Amino acid sequence: MQIIGIALSKGRILEEAAPLLARVGLMPREDPERSRKLVIATERRDVRLIVVRASDAPTYVQYGAAALGIAGHDVLAEHGGAGLYQPLDLGIARCRMVVAVQKGFDYKGAVRQGARLRVATKYVQTTRAHFAAKGVHVDLIRLYGSMELAPLVGLADAIVDLVSSGQTLKANGLSAVEEIMPVSARLIVNQAALKTKRAQLQPLIDAFARAVA
Ligand code: ADP
Ligand code: MG
Repeated sequence: MQIIGIALSKGRILEEAAPLLARVGLMPREDPERSRKLVIATERRDVRLIVVRASDAPTYVQYGAAALGIAGHDVLAEHGGAGLYQPLDLGIARCRMVVAVQKGFDYKGAVRQGARLRVATKYVQTTRAHFAAKGVHVDLIRLYGSMELAPLVGLADAIVDLVSSGQTLKANGLSAVEEIMPVSARLIVNQAALKTKRAQLQPLIDAFARAVA
């Protein structure tokens, strides 16, 4: 019996995945939010949690350092999905990836006139693909967080970021002008491991599917 790792991030993903993990019989043996450990045993001796940054989860699974993982569609779109099988939408950590601008900025007008938009985001690949498909010229500015700040201080005309309630945008005088994609978290599986460890992995994937339904 080989040990199966599940790569996932603390915070929103773990919080919303916890009830699913419990239903699948994978309750962590210590609280990942409080422990400093990055590898955490579960109720099942052959499965352990591997605590990673949200944007790193696909990389751990792609290289087989974890056979399974949980990652947002935002992160998967940006990663590209190479080496990954995505069998299941877990329906958790739901939000939307949007283009947002300061209230008063004429986004439609700027796009219509073919102006070169400066767009700040941490989703550089996804943003480039979105605007290329629309034929809109953009200068991308790569940020690592707090994208809402960029338009307020003149760093960018627009941002691409995640919103759920819209409260953070509103508090900073921004509004969403375009949806790029709906986002939720998915179960991801290393493609090679699914072949070599199918007997162990398929029942786990099926158990997650039942836990979601
Ligand atoms: P980080 O800020 O380190 O990327 P988060 O816990 O904020 O970590 O986000 C992790 C994942 O949770 C994101 O990749 C996305 O899929 C999802 N997420 C982020 N923001 C929201 C939100 N406002 N509502 C719902 N899900 C979100
Ligand atoms: Mg965040």
